Amino acid sequence: MIPQDVVKLPIAKHESDWRWQLKNMLRSEQDFASLINLTDREREAFQKTQGLFRTGATPYYAGLMDKSNPHCPIRRQTIPLPEECNTKSYEWNDPLGEEPRRAASSVVHKYPDRVLFLVVDRCAIYCRHCNRRRLVGGDAPPTRDEVEQGLEYIRRHGRIRDVLLSGGDPLLLSNKRLAYIIGELRKINHVEIIRIGTRLPVVCPMRIDEELCSILKENHPLYINTHFNHVKEITEETKRACNMLADAGVPLGNQTVLLRGINSSVQSLRALFRGLLAMRVKPYYLFQGDTVVGTDHLRTNVETAIDLMAGLRGYVTGMAMPHLAIDIPGGMGKVPIMKQYIVEQNEREVVLQNYRGVTVSYPQPELADATVPYDAVYFAGQPADDDSVPASDFGDAY
Ligand code: SF4
Repeated sequence: MIPQDVVKLPIAKHESDWRWQLKNMLRSEQDFASLINLTDREREAFQKTQGLFRTGATPYYAGLMDKSNPHCPIRRQTIPLPEECNTKSYEWNDPLGEEPRRAASSVVHKYPDRVLFLVVDRCAIYCRHCNRRRLVGGDAPPTRDEVEQGLEYIRRHGRIRDVLLSGGDPLLLSNKRLAYIIGELRKINHVEIIRIGTRLPVVCPMRIDEELCSILKENHPLYINTHFNHVKEITEETKRACNMLADAGVPLGNQTVLLRGINSSVQSLRALFRGLLAMRVKPYYLFQGDTVVGTDHLRTNVETAIDLMAGLRGYVTGMAMPHLAIDIPGGMGKVPIMKQYIVEQNEREVVLQNYRGVTVSYPQPELADATVPYDAVYFAGQPADDDSVPASDFGDAY
């Protein structure tokens, strides 16, 4: 069932133009004070965090804010708090170790078969939890030359099957520019899939229009990962945007960041993941917060995250269950974490505990050898799909 609290906003004609939304982004204390009743702490944070990390949101997204309640999840993701200045010794500017893995200035090559392609440095919101806050803001956008160098790197490395366009928000590029970059990637035979990571369906859903959808449709297989963090972000407008993308044949996934006091309750996560599925967006990841500077107050502890996921299992369909993961500091990759459902295990049986705490024995089969004889026929002559390829084939980052 679609959540009861789907927000319906009256959107004036000029407001439905995404360029108008970007041009009129709210950025300063005064801008936000004209819309909501800022608390003393929020006002203090605007002063204290100046120059640390920018603030900004589209009028559309800011319009979802609760004017008087500072706990509003939209408000908490947008308006700074003084805690952002309390940097901890274990926080990093680059928690995911992307800088040392820049294989070209616009390409991060961390995993063998896929790359991150940073094509823009602007966003339509500056999220308080952003793990790329060192880069985003529009101060040093990737130049055309840098994007060309990135394309060239991808052309030269035959094991890159998957290119994730990111930034910043790639859907802030003009249709012409986006079509050029995606089109160039599509010409590369070894690039099997293109993915786009974007928050625009959430914070500027009017960006999703017929022209954009037709560009995406011409370049399949192409996937989009959105970034909804709270059910309050699901509105008539976001539903329209996601449905248009789904109708254009774009498989939609969602990455949520677990944010303490914002979405860190079973009730909130169940409603979010159900709401996403109802608009054809598959919950893909629930991330434990990254250790990025100034965000300690937004992270939950790991035990809480595991308990929250356990509170979903069995109560929402498996389709609505994302992978709970930690992106290990230093760029060591994502690791799934979960409650242990195996109580005991031996050659004869595995004792499992279900979501209600009931333990049941699952008998093991007599034969344990799981070799697939036909693999040797079907995959004959193909190179090993593992890390045995020399590191030098992946560029200087390796
Ligand atoms: S939209 Fe993404 S990249 Fe931009 S500020 Fe938010 S989390 Fe960071």
